[in-house]
Amino acid sequence: MRVTPRKKYLLTPGPTPVPEEILLTQAEPIIHHRTPEFKKIFTEVSEGLKYVFQTKNPVLVFSSSGTGAMESAVANLKQDGIKFLSVMGGKFGERWTEICKAFGADCEVLEVKWGQSPDTKDIETKLSGDKAIKVILTTLCETSTGSVYDVKAIAKIAKKYDALVVVDAISGLLADEFRMDDWGIDIAIAGSQKGLMLPPGLSFISLSGRAWEYVDKSKPQAYYFNLKKAMSSGEKYDTPWTPAVSLVIGLRKALELIKEEKIENVWKRHNFLAATCRQAIEGLGLKLFAQNPSSAVTSVMMPDSIDSAEFVKFIRNEFGISIAGGQGALKGKIFRIAHLGYMNIFDLLVGIAAIEFALHNFGYKFSLGKGILKLEEEFLKEYKKEI
Ligand SMILES: *Cc1c(COP(=O)(O)O)cnc(C)c1O
Repeated sequence: MRVTPRKKYLLTPGPTPVPEEILLTQAEPIIHHRTPEFKKIFTEVSEGLKYVFQTKNPVLVFSSSGTGAMESAVANLKQDGIKFLSVMGGKFGERWTEICKAFGADCEVLEVKWGQSPDTKDIETKLSGDKAIKVILTTLCETSTGSVYDVKAIAKIAKKYDALVVVDAISGLLADEFRMDDWGIDIAIAGSQKGLMLPPGLSFISLSGRAWEYVDKSKPQAYYFNLKKAMSSGEKYDTPWTPAVSLVIGLRKALELIKEEKIENVWKRHNFLAATCRQAIEGLGLKLFAQNPSSAVTSVMMPDSIDSAEFVKFIRNEFGISIAGGQGALKGKIFRIAHLGYMNIFDLLVGIAAIEFALHNFGYKFSLGKGILKLEEEFLKEYKKEI
């Protein structure tokens, strides 16, 4: 007998599980993209994206993973005499720096200790010390450490120094509160395979009026990722190239589901799952890694006696459940469990149970069931309020 049949669970911070009604849209026959039928869909999707970005500005869609939209931001903003400031507190901050390098852009780096969030005072020091810095590249949720950054405060400081703020909100969007217009974010970027509950393959980018003034002045080092070109079509609810038709149709469904739940409730649900997950982890005697934890993913210090890469591999191979290990310098040292997108308390019960079984297997001393009990207690408190 096998008590762990081949049923798979995705509890990673991207890709994330896709709801059944979205999966079904992926089996529909392909329609041509230059038709009234597709135009109607793309118009709906374009409007729905403004809601999830909390912006009045158009949100452009690329057929690429999230990194494509990050690259487009740098490629379209780079100009002589201006410097970028990359806020680097993890793998995805590093990505900003690497993209700048690839384009030969002048890039200053603000090193942030992994697991911490940037201190806005340090950003201010950089900006006041070097007037050439005109673009801040930062992250909403630094997925590699599970930290949320106060991008609202960063945007405030950026304004003071007349700099733009570009936010990689790829994993944070829909998990951590994010209001592009109200917070004065100039460029926001997202991807399909995270909070949007879609398969990988779409990236999104929206620009403020201020950001467009910048893009207008620069000579884009891009063809596919040329933002002006994307905008000239995007304004007319069109795309310059063939869009990923099936994913766009899936996106329409995803946006419908999000609208139905309401974005404030989506944030609250993620917030609840994240807070509950942290309590369960602490109930097991484990330590949390992030100082300001994101609601997308919980990062956990692995006890010294266990290699987290082995731990994650064991859970995947034995139980079919995918959680994430540490990246870069954190390899082997932390594990990460996501509660991002199509998730509820029962997904978390699965994840925490698997973590308990694995801890037991690796000889870690704790009282079995402590994490699960915490989840159940917290769920009952919240559920009573709900009914
Ligand atoms: C997932 C992710 C990305 C994008 O990765 P892709 O593999 O290109 O989709 C970028 N930034 C953050 C913070 C992410 O979590």
